[in-house]
Amino acid sequence: MSSADILIIGGGIAGLSAASALANHGKVVVLEGEEAVGYHSSGRSATMLHYALGDPFVRALTLESRGFFEQPPEGFTDVPLGHRVPVLVHAREDELQALEALHTGIARFAELESVDERGLLELCPALRVGQGGAVAGIVDRNGIRLDPHAMLQGHVRALRRAGGELMTGARVRSIRQVGTEWQVETEAGDHYSAPILVNAAGAWADAVAELAGLDRIGLSPLKRTIITFDGPADTDTSGWPFTKTVADELYFAPESGRLFASPMDEVPTNPCDAQPDEYEVALAAHRVEERTTLKVDRIHSRWAGLRTFSPDKHLVAGFDANAEGFFWLAGQGGYGLQTSPVVARAVESLIAGAPWPSVAISADELSLRRFLA
Ligand SMILES: Cc1cc2nc3c(=O)[nH]c(=O)nc-3n(C[C@H](O)[C@H](O)[C@H](O)COP(=O)(O)OP(=O)(O)OC[C@H]3O[C@@H](n4cnc5c(N)ncnc54)[C@H](O)[C@@H]3O)c2cc1C
Repeated sequence: MSSADILIIGGGIAGLSAASALANHGKVVVLEGEEAVGYHSSGRSATMLHYALGDPFVRALTLESRGFFEQPPEGFTDVPLGHRVPVLVHAREDELQALEALHTGIARFAELESVDERGLLELCPALRVGQGGAVAGIVDRNGIRLDPHAMLQGHVRALRRAGGELMTGARVRSIRQVGTEWQVETEAGDHYSAPILVNAAGAWADAVAELAGLDRIGLSPLKRTIITFDGPADTDTSGWPFTKTVADELYFAPESGRLFASPMDEVPTNPCDAQPDEYEVALAAHRVEERTTLKVDRIHSRWAGLRTFSPDKHLVAGFDANAEGFFWLAGQGGYGLQTSPVVARAVESLIAGAPWPSVAISADELSLRRFLA
């Protein structure tokens, strides 16, 4: 039996950012079921930091996190954690009210410019504008395209530097509480114990709670699909913005010499190794051709990932009142990367007593008391 002060189940961005924040307070061991970190949601995202998703809760956590990406702690990474990409949200004539509402919603968090058809084309010449197409937009020139690989590796390094351990290929199959200790067994038959167990198992967080004999909170994993395809020949698309419809129908952006796009699908799914379905792949191509002048002649690659939401769509970070030492860190939905810095510090505060990091969000708002009796 290996003993630690804190065991964390899940080597995605949630588990690893919490691990690096907690590692200076005691011995932290992260157990990841896959052979590599970030294999599931954290390695399959659109990798953006922007304010056009979520609500004031998500936007506040995002705003309080962005400093970490712009200026990571000394020694955290040798490469930038992201680079600036403008974020353009566009609307048809019949969507102008929604665009105005979004403008009002984001204005507290980011500096926005309004653009007309000409401005839309200056930013993204492929947009279909005018009759039946986009007529107006808002742009935030300070979006960030994140580098999840650099983020995950930075946290792993910080964890190890502080004496913590990451065990990959360590899928947890049983959990029991003996006295004040949580005892965990992996499928390989290894045993770990600690007085604090952090459940950062992403889409599997409800299943992990059940392993511990606890109630689920009712998480919903929703599948989202991304395709990549060639941009127009002889056109440098690298400076195009992350471009999104005001309704959640389509986004696309430059991706390593090509373009990526998502139909923003939200297909309810059981926790799994998510795979793209033909329907959503075709829908992505269809919506690109509907909203732009681009042709999707050949799909270069495709993938899908799970965005896992709590019942009120706000993430959960807090102890389970029904089981001493059992801590939930789940339900990051479609914003788990861009909010991870401040959320990790909230976890550090709740578990290790560090100062509360957020002026906008209280511990009660993250607590799971809102779901469990
Ligand atoms: C298509 C798509 C686009 C997205 N775009 C963005 C975006 O632009 N910006 C943004 O901020 N977020 C985005 N997200 C959301 C973001 O990716 C997630 O919120 C975030 O990755 C969740 O991190 P996690 O650590 O909770 O989950 P995961 O990365 O899934 O990590 C959970 C880990 O737990 C492990 N695990 C589960 N059960 C066990 C067990 N029994 N034993 C051991 N290990 C276990 C799993 O193997 C997994 O590695 C997007 C997601 C998708 C799918």
